[in-house]
Amino acid sequence: MDYKLKCLQCSAEYGSTYANQVCARCNGILEVVYAGRIAMPSGRSFWDFESALPKGAYKHYAVGGTNIVASEDAGLFLKLELRNQTGSFKDLGSVIEVAKAYEYGYKDVVCASTGNMAYSIAYYSKLYGIRAHIFISSNANKDKIYDIRSTNDAIIKEVDGDFNKALDAAALYSRKKGFFLSGDYCYRKEGQKLIAYEIMQNLPGAANIIIPVGNATLFSGIYKGLREMKASGRIKKLPRLIAVEAKGCSPVVDAFNSKSSIKYRIPKTKADAIAVGFPTFGTQALEGLNVTRGMAVAVTDNEMERSKEKLYKEKGIVAELGGVASFAAYEKIKSKNGIHGATVAIISGGNI
Ligand SMILES: [Zn+2]
Repeated sequence: MDYKLKCLQCSAEYGSTYANQVCARCNGILEVVYAGRIAMPSGRSFWDFESALPKGAYKHYAVGGTNIVASEDAGLFLKLELRNQTGSFKDLGSVIEVAKAYEYGYKDVVCASTGNMAYSIAYYSKLYGIRAHIFISSNANKDKIYDIRSTNDAIIKEVDGDFNKALDAAALYSRKKGFFLSGDYCYRKEGQKLIAYEIMQNLPGAANIIIPVGNATLFSGIYKGLREMKASGRIKKLPRLIAVEAKGCSPVVDAFNSKSSIKYRIPKTKADAIAVGFPTFGTQALEGLNVTRGMAVAVTDNEMERSKEKLYKEKGIVAELGGVASFAAYEKIKSKNGIHGATVAIISGGNI
């Protein structure tokens, strides 16, 4: 669909030929804004919803369309995003973002990651014949880094520091070299928003969606997708959104529960996939929580460990700690506050 890009910080606007994902004026992050109301697509899986994506020549690699399975708890459904090719929902964003880099003629992309994003970007870059330069944080998952190195020809640069340090280094490097900056930016968000379409088309009665939050791109993408569906009349009401972070790194949870703005937190958790001290889309996540009268839940590493074990025993699913955060949050809400209506927990992150 025809679109323009708008800066979320200074409101500057750019046409779709603007080959960058950050604002030239203030370095703020951009948002895809469509020319009109999206003609709501039908179908059930990722590429069925291409008309809700920015206009582009996408190769239809097998992403998305992951199954939704009923859990042992009545009313809880698990959306198995770990069934994507590189083991996480990042593929839904990478397949769009890397196609855009290719369209704009880039031969190199740069990205910062704690592991999952790096693997996904490297995977789809290779398919498009693009070289990936990956800046990884010192808490990145070493098993994933091995996968990236061994199969995807990516150049790995280790940063002494957390994800936000790696992010700064990646942005600086892309500017210096003139490479495409990929990662948690506008095109990725458009791809990942289609998880909302998949959930509502396959489970129209979903009343709650529990979403793991690292950089909050998935959360704000799902929120954007749901608003589009509501604006077009496809759904009548936005489901309640529930954000989950690790207790040892919970900037969005803390800000929402104390009604303040996002403040940086030093990540202290083994759940590396969601260990982000200052989320890029944190403010948008707070808006999604407020508008949907949502909930923000922090889960401890021990709670995630227990949920990981439970998921394996009950459903035979092996996920990483950050990947089971939403399941752990469900267990916590269920025992404390109660939760009503059909609930979808997004399970993502590594069969490692
Ligand atoms: Zn700007």
